[in-house]
Amino acid sequence: MVDYIGVADVARLIQAMGPGEFIDRLADQILADYRRWDEFEKSARLASHSPVGVIELMPTTDGKLYSFKYVNGHPQNTAVGLLTVTAFGVLADVATGYPLLLSELTVTTALRTAAMSALAARLLARPASRVMALIGNGSQSEFQAIAFHRMIGIRELRLYDLDRRATSKLERNLGAMEGLEDLRIVRAASTAEACRGADIVTTVTADKRNAVILTPPMVRPGMHLNAVGGDCPGKTELHPDVLRMPQARVVVEYEPQSRIEGEIQQMPADFAVTEFAAIARGASPGRRTDEEVTIFDSVGFALEDYSALRFLYTLLAEERIERRRIDLVPTLEDPKDLFGGTIGAGRQRRRLRQSA
Ligand code: NAD
Repeated sequence: MVDYIGVADVARLIQAMGPGEFIDRLADQILADYRRWDEFEKSARLASHSPVGVIELMPTTDGKLYSFKYVNGHPQNTAVGLLTVTAFGVLADVATGYPLLLSELTVTTALRTAAMSALAARLLARPASRVMALIGNGSQSEFQAIAFHRMIGIRELRLYDLDRRATSKLERNLGAMEGLEDLRIVRAASTAEACRGADIVTTVTADKRNAVILTPPMVRPGMHLNAVGGDCPGKTELHPDVLRMPQARVVVEYEPQSRIEGEIQQMPADFAVTEFAAIARGASPGRRTDEEVTIFDSVGFALEDYSALRFLYTLLAEERIERRRIDLVPTLEDPKDLFGGTIGAGRQRRRLRQSA
């Protein structure tokens, strides 16, 4: 039997625990895992592209636990009433190869992406950052807002989305949340207006093209850019001149994957970047000067999903999530008798006896 966590289980957990506490604890877990970077088997994710989107598999292991996530990205889905991003994942025991947990990861991906964004900002943004522009107000946006309010101390959010209904939805959701009473929300008429006076700019838009959300005139010295939405070949958000700005410093998760999928796909192969793990482990500094423009070129890495699955598994053990088990793999009296223990005649006879 395998533990199972569904969307309703995660929703109940977050309602009881609060998204802020979940994000905080998950960020600690992600940081601890990035600090043992060398223990992980790393590879760029396996992506299957179509004209409208991508389906990806993201595996990793630390030699004890193995995890993978299935995730899609289809920016046109919302027009037909479907999410842009959905996901689920598995945590398995390396010693036996048996799956331990099958879990929803759509809501959890939004939480882990926000936790990772805020974690990077904690090391890269100016400590006095209080104002954030949030460009792209779709599914990920509430999670980003909550994480930056809680972990960074953002107290003014400047919102912009091409779709005004998405901004209204974000405003409504944040307005209804306990604990965000000190968060001032300002609607902007354009990305440029939203960025004016911002310490941090988060871009979390979805469009399958080399979009130009941020251009150099919108970027001021000392800003931190949290570029979340560009995460596929041919799908970016920053004008390449932003990356070339003299004060710019680009931080990525796993360099070989980011060269393919991140904003830096627009740059030559020798364009200098810093891996987040180097900063997490103290091998490379975080922000160096007040004028530096730090850019977290986020695409999402398998280690973060490993951390999220392990965190969910811990919460199951803490009984914060109701335990449900499913027969994803057979349980046999004789491990060499798969046939007899599942579909064979003996099994049928036992079933008949039980139902008699
Ligand atoms: P979504 O479709 O729910 O929301 C995207 C929003 O972006 C929409 O409201 C859309 O109107 C808006 N938008 C598109 N183009 C815009 C533009 N030029 N200016 C302003 N707004 C614009 O998608 P989502 O689930 O919120 O995901 C957003 C993006 O984040 C996707 O591209 C997704 O692939 C990416 N993502 C990245 C990570 C990561 O780890 N880096 C994780 C999850 C999702």
